[in-house]
Amino acid sequence: MQTLPFSQLGISEPVMQAIDDIGYEEATPIQTLTIPLLMSGRDVIGQSQTGTGKTAAFTIPAIENILQNHGKGVQALIICPTRELAIQACDEIRKLTAYTERIRTAAIYGGQDIERQIKILRGGAQIVVGTPGRIMDHMRRNTLSLANLRMVILDEADEMLSMGFRDDIEIILADVPEERQTVLFSATMSQEIMEITNKYLRDPEIVKVVQGELTVKEIEQYYYNIPHSHKIEAVSRLMDVYHPEPAMIFCNTKKQVDELVSAMQLRGYVAEGLHGDMKQAARDHVMNTFRSGHVDVLIATDVAARGIDVSGIGAVFNYDIPQDMEYYVHRIGRTGRAGKSGIAFTFVTGSREMGELKNIMRYTHSQIKKGVIPTSAEVMESRRMRFADKVRRAVENDDLGQYIHMIEELAGSGISLTDIAAALLKFEMTADGRTAMPSASDDAAFEGHERRFGRRNDRGRDHRDGRRNDRGRRDRNIDMVKISIGLGKSAGIQPKHIVGAVANETGIPGKSIGRIEITEKYSTFDVPGDAAEAVMDALNHTKIMGRRVTARIFSEQY
Ligand code: ADP
Ligand code: MG
Repeated sequence: MQTLPFSQLGISEPVMQAIDDIGYEEATPIQTLTIPLLMSGRDVIGQSQTGTGKTAAFTIPAIENILQNHGKGVQALIICPTRELAIQACDEIRKLTAYTERIRTAAIYGGQDIERQIKILRGGAQIVVGTPGRIMDHMRRNTLSLANLRMVILDEADEMLSMGFRDDIEIILADVPEERQTVLFSATMSQEIMEITNKYLRDPEIVKVVQGELTVKEIEQYYYNIPHSHKIEAVSRLMDVYHPEPAMIFCNTKKQVDELVSAMQLRGYVAEGLHGDMKQAARDHVMNTFRSGHVDVLIATDVAARGIDVSGIGAVFNYDIPQDMEYYVHRIGRTGRAGKSGIAFTFVTGSREMGELKNIMRYTHSQIKKGVIPTSAEVMESRRMRFADKVRRAVENDDLGQYIHMIEELAGSGISLTDIAAALLKFEMTADGRTAMPSASDDAAFEGHERRFGRRNDRGRDHRDGRRNDRGRRDRNIDMVKISIGLGKSAGIQPKHIVGAVANETGIPGKSIGRIEITEKYSTFDVPGDAAEAVMDALNHTKIMGRRVTARIFSEQY
């Protein structure tokens, strides 16, 4: 990480002189990156470890902005988690403003006589540093006027949240002028912090200086929005098609690790679990087995995985979306075999987790692409190809003499070679208790769910229980949108009524309507995304079977 001398950051002469007096020689990385951004007026999320100089990273620009703007009243508000940190920041500002007489700073925190603070505030301060509770106190008493505020800084945001200040922070932020610069600094980043920044920061620049930063850029990343109940099937299918052994699966809880280990073992995978409740000896045993190369999949919590040194992981699964964004980076950083880029699969369920996923993408500056769970046919095809490969290699390389002898004996007893081979294949494919075939009924579940969330390339593979298939459609990559209407079986509605109404009222061809599902009370059907608005509009102005309908985008949450 390149650092710059303070003199190259556009800092004014009097502040430069103060920095000299303090004795800082060069700006630290976080200072190098954030000072110019903050001076340009941008909202910024700054993350770097403790002790990397975050205080000066925001106090210097706060001072510079005030020198530039000549504003009256409180111009900058710095919110700190503790009295000590507030005093520290205040001291730093006083040192930095040693040569800029006009600028005054007030520190307000609990435990100090409020009257004294009121006096100081009355004296006029352009910068106020304080703890959340006391800031709110002064706001309520009207002893702190923030009407002219131009800049709000949340310092040590992770600390503030872990100390339970979230509500206070939100109350303060909701009550300061909207036209302002908002800045947040923190040593660590979390979902909760991103929620706050999403709400109160405007198009923030994320500046992250993490030591030994893992880059996720070279890792292929996919996500699947599926119900929780389908995750095990999804893991199995992805394992069967990608063959990432060894894979690593991350869960958020110990309980989930235990459950998943059992479930994967039942499906015939060699699975081992790792979590914080295990004794050291048990963990060592798991790690030794894992390193011996006999394990297909290691399932772990973040905490348990932290200390272990594993590499050469074929794929990382985020069975649960990580609670801390930094975990995501650590988790998927484990994948990637020597010289090869890695692959990571993340499962999300519902729109809230989709939101968390988007935050992770922003935070890591990376693309997580929407993946499609392989169909049972694709899983079978993959197994078949691997099997064919295995047979070919054995025939070419192994000494099969004694086996050939056994087969010839069997064939001599009247069983056909094809039957013998089929029986052996069955043994092979169901070895270790694996089910021979993935269940095609789960295809529908994955497909149904994917579609419900709007986007999915249609393959027209479904042709069961009253569902229409849409082989007819030529473009296989149209994004479909599911629409619902409030008429179901109880109203006597049938697919032909829906197809008829849509085709008649909108002119879109009946064959471009995707799957239709009719439940007791309502019906749903898929239409190409670009036609959805027109279809809903038309249906809302017409009658089906003599009844008015309300058509809307179908959104079922899991
Ligand atoms: P953080 O908030 O990131 O934990 P601080 O702002 O408290 O870090 O700074 C940690 C220490 O580093 C302080 O003693 C501070 O004076 C010092 N420091 C800050 N910036 C510099 C710099 N550019 N050069 C040398 N020391 C610095
Ligand atoms: Mg700090």
